[in-house]
Amino acid sequence: MIVADLEKKMKIELFKLTNSKPFDFVYYFTNKDKITLAEDYNGFFANEGLHVQGTIYRLSAGEFQINFTVSGEIFFPCARCLKAVNVESFYEYSDVVQTKNLDIEINTWVEECLFINEPFRVLCKENCKGLCPKCGINLNKATCNCKLDSEIDPRLDALKKLL
Ligand SMILES: [Zn+2]
Ligand SMILES: [Zn+2]
Repeated sequence: MIVADLEKKMKIELFKLTNSKPFDFVYYFTNKDKITLAEDYNGFFANEGLHVQGTIYRLSAGEFQINFTVSGEIFFPCARCLKAVNVESFYEYSDVVQTKNLDIEINTWVEECLFINEPFRVLCKENCKGLCPKCGINLNKATCNCKLDSEIDPRLDALKKLL
């Protein structure tokens, strides 16, 4: 069992693995690691990062079984008002890795795991009123005088009656 440095990426030297010896690893996946996720992934973690724990072992030449869990708190923006919502997360990941490389970075699989488990829609509360689409005010905290429903084009209204 090794514990990787918080600041370092988790790199495993595959050439050192033999069939009989599973390699256990524990490390913390931090926001700094999230470089390739930055654009598409909406989650953000606290400074200590996410706890990653797992095992990798060799199945045959160039083929490795990797199993791990990712746990921790991930913040996602509320789908309506964008407020950061703390989601207690626990994911399991298992895959067969085929590679000719001498080492692999576990980050690649942690990123994959985070992507496929990203919640489709997070709400800060069930009845979140969201932001006013016109002035952007947070309707949970304040009200505005924007008229939204009454602004339907009368021609569209006429069309509606036909449907
Ligand atoms: Zn909300
Ligand atoms: Zn408004």
